[in-house]
Amino acid sequence: MSSPAFPPEVENLVDLRSDTVTRPTPEMYEAMANAPVGDDVLGDDPTVIQLEELAAHMTGKEASLFVPSGTMGNQIALACHCQPGDAILIEEEAHILYYEVGAPALLAGVVSWTLPSNRGAMDPDHVERRILKANLHTPGTTLICLENTHNRAGGAIIPLEYMEAYRAKADSHGVKVHLDGARVFNAAIALGVSLQDITDNVDSVNFCLSKGLRSPIGSMLCGDAAFIEKARIWRKRLGGGMRQAGILAACGIVSLTKMVDRLAEDHARAKRLAVALQGQPGISVDLDTVETNMVLVNTVAPAGDWQAWLQQEGVLCFPVGSNRLRLVFHGDISDEATDRAIEAFKEVASQNCDQLHAIAGLETK
Ligand SMILES: *Cc1c(COP(=O)(O)O)cnc(C)c1O
Repeated sequence: MSSPAFPPEVENLVDLRSDTVTRPTPEMYEAMANAPVGDDVLGDDPTVIQLEELAAHMTGKEASLFVPSGTMGNQIALACHCQPGDAILIEEEAHILYYEVGAPALLAGVVSWTLPSNRGAMDPDHVERRILKANLHTPGTTLICLENTHNRAGGAIIPLEYMEAYRAKADSHGVKVHLDGARVFNAAIALGVSLQDITDNVDSVNFCLSKGLRSPIGSMLCGDAAFIEKARIWRKRLGGGMRQAGILAACGIVSLTKMVDRLAEDHARAKRLAVALQGQPGISVDLDTVETNMVLVNTVAPAGDWQAWLQQEGVLCFPVGSNRLRLVFHGDISDEATDRAIEAFKEVASQNCDQLHAIAGLETK
């Protein structure tokens, strides 16, 4: 079975806005068409059960739950680990705070205690100093939230020693650890370690099937059996119980069995683009920060201007700051598309050279 065709103007775009834009592969369409299904709210969809067993096995947890989105998986985790009025410790630019529309305050009802970081990695000693014991005055800290890879830090990896240090600190204070591992497979592949080397350090992890792993929809929340039992109730409460969800879970199985190792290709293409952009006028890329499938490009002109200029060249991306663009590599970006993105940057840089030099206060010839 092949994938539906798209018009050439869509097909020819180099879409680097996010790794969420990938469309299902022909193998996924095939898997959807052939998936045995049941009613997953009643607990008898065999394809969902198979996916949940696979995700639990891969993360080294007792159980897992298929949820419609990463946002829902993260928020269910907070609600299961915490009581309203508890405090969580979380990095200040975390997705859970930045892009989940205030849900920790609304759903779990927790106080979010934020800490600065070095590219997503909080100082473990700093984390420990901020763990609060509940008393007449102070909310007690019950959860440390981590994000690996870190989205707003440009796909940055939290070093394994840090993951181990957070675990040790959490244990010595009786606190739980949740990992927003939307892209945790990218971290494992880039580090050359097993997924469990990372997930062994956390009580629960949520990862996305719908990003670099190319499924159309879905995330997996993984943890011990009692946690997942509570999580199933929260999923139902939030309206996330889905019936013949095996149609979607079938894609998730393809993701976990066929799409993990290929993440290395996305990382290689991100690096290649970052290298090719070195020395281009009007932009800069710090090569050391390109660890996985994202490239942060600093722009002299406003990032919104660069976004529009690149779009005219058929390349889509998002600004993530006033003078910063984010480019995300994924399975629908080939070597040839990577070349086209590099050419687009060079074209815009040369077209705008005079203007960029003027903005930078440099001499124009
Ligand atoms: C994408 C993402 C999520 C949640 O994704 P959904 O769009 O809700 O599926 C959570 N955390 C991080 C770090 C992400 O990048």
